[in-house]
Amino acid sequence: MTLINFASAAQTMEERLVARRREFHRHPELAFEEHWTSGRVADYLRDLGLEIQTGVGGTGVVAILDGANDGPTVLVRSDMDALPVEEQTGAEYRSQITGKMHACGHDGHMSVVLATAELLLQNQQALSGRVKFVFQPAEEVGQGAAAMVRDGVLADPKPDYSVGLHLWNELPIGQVALDSGPVMAAVSDFEIVIEGKGGHAGIPQQAIDPVVCAAHIVTALQSIVSRNVPPQEAVVLSVTMIEGGSAKNVIPTQAKMAGTLRTFDVGRRDDVVNRMQAIAEGIAQGLDCQAMLDIAHHTVPVINDPDMVERVRQGWQQQDIAFDDTTVMTTAGEDFSEFTQGIPGIFFFVGSANPDRGLTYPHHHAKFDIDESSLVTATTLLASAVGSLLASEGMQE
Ligand SMILES: [Zn+2]
Ligand SMILES: [Zn+2]
Repeated sequence: MTLINFASAAQTMEERLVARRREFHRHPELAFEEHWTSGRVADYLRDLGLEIQTGVGGTGVVAILDGANDGPTVLVRSDMDALPVEEQTGAEYRSQITGKMHACGHDGHMSVVLATAELLLQNQQALSGRVKFVFQPAEEVGQGAAAMVRDGVLADPKPDYSVGLHLWNELPIGQVALDSGPVMAAVSDFEIVIEGKGGHAGIPQQAIDPVVCAAHIVTALQSIVSRNVPPQEAVVLSVTMIEGGSAKNVIPTQAKMAGTLRTFDVGRRDDVVNRMQAIAEGIAQGLDCQAMLDIAHHTVPVINDPDMVERVRQGWQQQDIAFDDTTVMTTAGEDFSEFTQGIPGIFFFVGSANPDRGLTYPHHHAKFDIDESSLVTATTLLASAVGSLLASEGMQE
């Protein structure tokens, strides 16, 4: 059995892809509140005759598609959540819920993964192994994937591969990025509290000023990226909030700062945190203050497995799928990485912007919208990626 031509099969599904994406778009739900959404997803999967499991990691849905023969398990992931944004696209299919919007494209992801399930079902006889479709809550808060993992999504059956994608408005339609190595960053955020001693601002010798100390720490933190991180590596360390004091003539007792840290390697992340700690505490000590660093790690980086990239690209080539090859490495984060801990994975980007139609607003913008032809491209690429990982011929297992 050989694989069907996914490009032409996906093309015939365009109307349904668009209709479902718009249906989801009209009904945005926030992280862990995707009750209507996951119900719809479950209905569609049930209609396909797939065995499903609901309530995984809160509102998550899992469906299993068995191929005709034995083989590995491929996890395919879609996220489901929307954002607390008031939509301003004026589109006919705009959000029907005040203050909530699918402004990241997860509505499209659901439609694409549902269509992919349908295409792979049509190709069941050619598949050796199984597909585990995972519809995840709460990607935007970086907690949904971890919740599903805690609920056992990586067991029974344990995936041998994980595949995810994002419709990407930084790229025009027709462009696609699938690269080896890190493609999305580890996201951490931090807070530093500096304790001094309050007093009269006109008599500073009686006080210990945490504001001066905070200023030195903000400045010294800039030396980590410029002096400690190898220039070939990308790290972002931004102090985005600083507060302290409530009157012009009072030295406050405390100052606080907070910000974000983005890295592409967990070891590097930990080195940076150690430097942050040393700088904050050292400067505070020199200025008679005390500094406490609190760091929260949200996602680990998304790192694409080189062998999988190779196999999937070969599959795309064999299927003669036309696209413009490009590269994406972004300091945004993605909790898809939770599905790749000890499991080789790939995450690719499908261009969804269209400057000619004014569809260029960035993700999370109130006017964000995609060119829906990207849904066909994404479905073609995703179905073919899974197909080549499970095709009976050329099996490497
Ligand atoms: Zn987003
Ligand atoms: Zn997203």
